[in-house]
Amino acid sequence: MQHQQTIQPQPGQQINLAGYDPDYTGDWEKDLARRQFKDNQERMDALQNVLYAEHKHALLIVLQAMDAGGKDSTIRKVMEGINPQGVHVWSFKQPTPEELDHDFLWRIHQHVPAKGMIGIFNRSHYEDVLVVRVNKLVPDDVWQARYDHINAFERLIADSGVTILKFYLHISKAEQKERFEDRLKEPDKHWKFSRGDLPVRKRWNDYMAAYEDALTRCNTAWAPWYIVPANHKWYRDLVISDAIVRTLESLHMEYPAPEPDLDKVKIPD
Ligand code: AMP
Ligand code: MG
Repeated sequence: MQHQQTIQPQPGQQINLAGYDPDYTGDWEKDLARRQFKDNQERMDALQNVLYAEHKHALLIVLQAMDAGGKDSTIRKVMEGINPQGVHVWSFKQPTPEELDHDFLWRIHQHVPAKGMIGIFNRSHYEDVLVVRVNKLVPDDVWQARYDHINAFERLIADSGVTILKFYLHISKAEQKERFEDRLKEPDKHWKFSRGDLPVRKRWNDYMAAYEDALTRCNTAWAPWYIVPANHKWYRDLVISDAIVRTLESLHMEYPAPEPDLDKVKIPD
């Protein structure tokens, strides 16, 4: 796609989120972007069909954002039209006592997509260097060691045939306020409002610092981060669908060879 802010930083590049405009939409107009998005959706559907049939690769999509950042609506919009049989979506909540008795990647590993599948993480192992760090849920040396653990883990699954795409949905603090206010105003969004999100909002700057470290230290060739300007949902959908299409196309997937002599097969009455 042309006309884009550098949403894909180079591995090793120091990320300063203040330098990324959440309102950015390039030169795109909404109507044109929506049309391009529809086109991307059709291509994704076709590519997912080959991914499933070929059974050689898996695609893992990691979504991270502040509350109301659009993780849920990204899943709904970007994945609509894709065969549900080939998709595994998992939302990571506060770890259970059993999960806390294991290493932080234990619960993650079991949801990594199998060959032929697209896996979507709504939150992920990155919470273990975000909320866990900001709320001091473990000692500093424990979360500090996790960037290396994450890179090694993502390397392991990448080496095992999983292509990884990580999207940070970048909204502004003002946009979050508007979206929270919508949740208060609209009855069918009330269920989405949680008072518990307000103390998190208060720590906005701490979260930005934690995100910057995660985006800087875990942006690798085998598991790149995309910083998606996400104040405008139509642009967010375009950027993400475009990255997915380009990535799936780069795998050069093929349908498996058919059984021999199919032209001689007669279906009995
Ligand atoms: P939601 O995405 O609104 O359903 O909320 C899920 C909650 O689980 C968020 O507040 C996350 O910060 C929290 N959460 C997810 N993973 C972890 C984790 N590893 N440790 C602590 N809290 C977590
Ligand atoms: Mg929430």
